[in-house]
Amino acid sequence: MTAYSKVGFIGLGSMGYPMALNLHKAGLLAGVYNRTHSKAVEFSKQTGCPAADSIETLASRCDAVVVCVSADQDVLDVAAKLAGSLTPHALVIDCSTVSAETARTAAQSLAANSIDFLDCPVSGGTEGARQGTLAIMCGGEPHTFDHALPILNAMGKRVVLMGPVGSGQATKAVNQIAVAGIAQAVSEALAFAEAEQLPLDKVIDVVGSGAAGSWFMSHRGPGMAAGRYPLGFKVALHQKDLKIVRQMAAAHGVQLPLVEMTLLHHQRLVDSGHGDEDISALHRLKRKLFNPRD
Ligand code: NAP
Repeated sequence: MTAYSKVGFIGLGSMGYPMALNLHKAGLLAGVYNRTHSKAVEFSKQTGCPAADSIETLASRCDAVVVCVSADQDVLDVAAKLAGSLTPHALVIDCSTVSAETARTAAQSLAANSIDFLDCPVSGGTEGARQGTLAIMCGGEPHTFDHALPILNAMGKRVVLMGPVGSGQATKAVNQIAVAGIAQAVSEALAFAEAEQLPLDKVIDVVGSGAAGSWFMSHRGPGMAAGRYPLGFKVALHQKDLKIVRQMAAAHGVQLPLVEMTLLHHQRLVDSGHGDEDISALHRLKRKLFNPRD
């Protein structure tokens, strides 16, 4: 097997657009497709890279395709089209966040036409996507992963094969549980600190330097202290991901308390018009505990 040299990209959203730009900079990109064609045209104007008007046209130009679309059914729809249009031994890399089961179903539909598949969800947000510093958690066959590394390294700085297909998505689910817990803990702790009339900048400094220190405390704490919650990672997206985690935990016959509590809180934020804010907006609800009339 030779290295993939003609890579296509499907899904030029907040994540996909900058990820595709990094593939272009690495000299790997052969074409892009976006459901709303105007975005693909915009990308083409910026880079000179061809904008395909269908997934089938894109597939005819490529030996590998990176997908970054919204949710489970979107991945399955795109995979079905790619299964019918890519040549045997081509590769599909899915960077969307979906369930491990969806990854396995997509892989099976592609394997029926001898097309390889890796599930490669990412972490690091739009900033990581722009800078090419994403953490990428991968599932698939080791030899497929090895051949895909030039593509993955163009988009991320930490690229790890976790196991067979589905393991990347399972690892992303682990990430989202931990993020829920950290966001809950830090937002609650800072609301308590405020109620105790402590100087919040000093709390973030000293507590953040000890055992309770975390990326979330030092990067999102100052925003919370000022009552501002700029993006970051959207409440609505974390909610979507935690619903995937809920479904995966249910397959073990388990309901995870932290996940259920955070889903409840995220729904409250969405219902009060804060679904597009950063998940540090959980601090709004924690503050309300101390100031019910606010
Ligand atoms: P986004 O900005 O909403 O973009 C979604 C993209 O998917 C758009 O290009 C959309 O096309 C396309 N799409 C959706 N359904 C499709 C379908 N059925 N067929 C073809 N194209 C379809 O979302 P995003 O923030 O880039 O996120 C993409 C994925 O990465 C999600 O699974 C998300 O959970 C994950 N992720 C996001 C972040 C983040 O911070 N944003 C971080 C890590 C992982 P249109 O332009 O036509 O709508």
